[in-house]
Amino acid sequence: MIKQPVSRELFDEVMVPNYAPGAVIPVRGEGSRVWDQEDREYVDLAGGIAVTCLGHSHPGLVSALMEQAEKIWHLSNVMTNEPALRLAKTLCDLTFAERVFFANSGGEANEAAFKLARRYSWQHHGPEKNEIVAFKNAFHGRTLFTVSVGGQPKYVEGFEPAPGGILHADFNDLESVKKLVSKEKTCAIVVEPIQGEGGVLPGDEAFLKGLRDLCDEHDALLVFDEVQSGVGRTGHLYAYQKYGVTPDILSTAKSLGGGFPVAAMLTTAAIAESLGVGTHGSTYGGNALACAVAQRVIDTVSQPDILKGVIARSDRLRQGMMDIGERYGVFSEVRGEGLLLGCVMTEKWQGRAKEFLAAGIDEGVMVLIAGPNVIRLAPSLIIPESDIDEALTRFEAAVKTVCSR
Ligand SMILES: *Cc1c(COP(=O)(O)O)cnc(C)c1O
Repeated sequence: MIKQPVSRELFDEVMVPNYAPGAVIPVRGEGSRVWDQEDREYVDLAGGIAVTCLGHSHPGLVSALMEQAEKIWHLSNVMTNEPALRLAKTLCDLTFAERVFFANSGGEANEAAFKLARRYSWQHHGPEKNEIVAFKNAFHGRTLFTVSVGGQPKYVEGFEPAPGGILHADFNDLESVKKLVSKEKTCAIVVEPIQGEGGVLPGDEAFLKGLRDLCDEHDALLVFDEVQSGVGRTGHLYAYQKYGVTPDILSTAKSLGGGFPVAAMLTTAAIAESLGVGTHGSTYGGNALACAVAQRVIDTVSQPDILKGVIARSDRLRQGMMDIGERYGVFSEVRGEGLLLGCVMTEKWQGRAKEFLAAGIDEGVMVLIAGPNVIRLAPSLIIPESDIDEALTRFEAAVKTVCSR
């Protein structure tokens, strides 16, 4: 054990500089409250970027983890394990899925999804039909394949050569997709039903339905990246259920583990056939501890009263942020679904979302940004209404400070 104090300065000494974390180091959490090293308390509207969907130290998740920790942790994929099978069965019962592949992160679930789409098309239609149509400003993870499918060139720069056969259309613009899709070449259309990192931008229902039709017309697979929008975030277990548009492949991570790393790719039995024995894998994918925790998350979040509660909390938080926006002229719009909300900065405050995040920390409230112009909120799905009110009071104080500078 090291003797020197664990401070923000240590980060610069020992960590690869790919992140720029704030000065505050949280050391414990309970529900939607978090405490730092100095015992200062914060209301958490960030949720670890849409991850801690049942808040911090949820007793049900703690007991699921502890119970499994005393049984068995890990078995490799040469054996299967009970928690993985139970969780896969639950996901199949609650969604369109008939087959499940487990991974450890959103990027890996997407990597599996994109590889499956390519291989399915290769098997059924031949090697020419390999193009993936994705969207500008999308985000699908940080592996070289997933950053290439994600339509943000800055994340690929300097890492080339990138995988080929990937085209980018404009989100919510069906005509731009039509120009890129063909029966001969397109193997899949990949989309986030709600763009998260790209600024909390919900897909229009007609747009998502149009993508489904285009896929059917052109024998292509529709892949929904629900890494951020899934697991109750929209008030539905998955956003596709809200839109009434069923994908062929769906990726889920972030909230799936409530803070424990786990991810899954869901698909149909027919499509799953294309990932036969030995074609793909993951050492930790389907880890017993991870699946035991995710089971408790899904069992809890899929309760109708929890999902209904998301809508009520969303209305309260959205209204509160709109009121603040109006009083100080900082937001032109509060968009998003359920407890994935984006407050869009007005013209006057363009590019300055970060200042409000920093001021929020000073006032004891954690928020996120999604790009330079959007304050993003992704709190626990069971955040108490009194914590929402307290967070709004603190955030308003933060806005007041920034505006009076
Ligand atoms: C966060 C995110 C990912 C990447 O997930 P990781 O667990 O960081 O690999 C992929 N897609 C979407 C939509 C995300 O929000």
